[in-house]
Amino acid sequence: MADARAGGLGRAVIFLGPPGAGKGTQAKQIAKHYSVPHLSTGDMFRELVAQDTPLGKRAKPIMDRGDLVPDDIVLEMVAERVSRPDTARGFVLDGFPRTLPQAEKLDEILQARSWGQPLVVHFVVDAAQLVRRLTGRRICSVGGEIYNIYDQPPKVEGRCDNDGGQLIHRADDREEVIVERLAAYREQTRPLVDYYRSQGVLVDVDGMQPPAAVTAKVLEILERGQKAHSSPAPSPAAANQMSQRYER
Ligand code: AMP
Repeated sequence: MADARAGGLGRAVIFLGPPGAGKGTQAKQIAKHYSVPHLSTGDMFRELVAQDTPLGKRAKPIMDRGDLVPDDIVLEMVAERVSRPDTARGFVLDGFPRTLPQAEKLDEILQARSWGQPLVVHFVVDAAQLVRRLTGRRICSVGGEIYNIYDQPPKVEGRCDNDGGQLIHRADDREEVIVERLAAYREQTRPLVDYYRSQGVLVDVDGMQPPAAVTAKVLEILERGQKAHSSPAPSPAAANQMSQRYER
C-alpha cells in the first residue's frame, strides 16, 4: 500500500456521476490518500466567479441556472491546469469531463503525455437521494468541509466542526436549479458512462452507502486498477471482463 501511494496514482482518475453523488467528498479523500491534486472544475469556476475575472463573469449566469459552461472555456481551463507540474503523479478529476467533446479532448491530453486511458469511477445514486443531498448540502467557507443538514449536520448550526468557518448553501443547490443540473447530467454527461464502459475502463460504485464505505470501495478499485495498470495492457475483451467484475 505504502509503495503504491509513493508513486501517486500514475494516471488520471475520473469521478463520474450526477450532482450530489458524492464525487467531491470522495475526491477529497482519495486525492489526500495518494497526495495528488483534486481537480474540480466546479471549484475552479466558483473561484473565478469569486475573483470576478472575465471568465468568471461569463460562467456565473450559466452556473446560476444550472447549465453547463461551454466546452471551449472548460477545456482551456483544464488544459492549463493539468499542464502544471503537480499533476505529474496523477490526479483526480471531479466534475470533468461532462460532455463527449470534453472526454475526447481529455483522451488527447492523456495520449500526449503517454498516459493511456483514464480509470473511471462511476457513482450510482438514486434520484430522490440526490435531491436530498443537494438541498441539504452545506459547505465550509474556510476549509471546504462538506455537511448535510439532514444526515450529517455540524455540531453548531451554520458552523464548521473543524475550524468554525461559516457554512455556505450553494446558490445552485436550490431545488429549481437542481432540476436543471440533473437534466444537464442526463442529457449531456450520462452518455459518457457508455463511452467509458465500452472501453472497459469504467467501474460502478454504489454511492448510496455511507461515505466511509464508499471510500473503502474506491480505494480497493484504485489499488487493483494500479496493479492492472503496471502490467501489460489487457486486450479490450479482457479489460471489459475485468470492469464487469466490479459491477453489481
Ligand atoms: P459542480 O460543482 O461540479 O456541480 O459544478 C458547478 C457548475 O459549474 C456546473 O453546474 C456547471 O455550470 C459548471 N461546470 C463545472 N464543471 C463543468 C464542466 N466540466 N463542463 C461544463 N460546466 C461545468
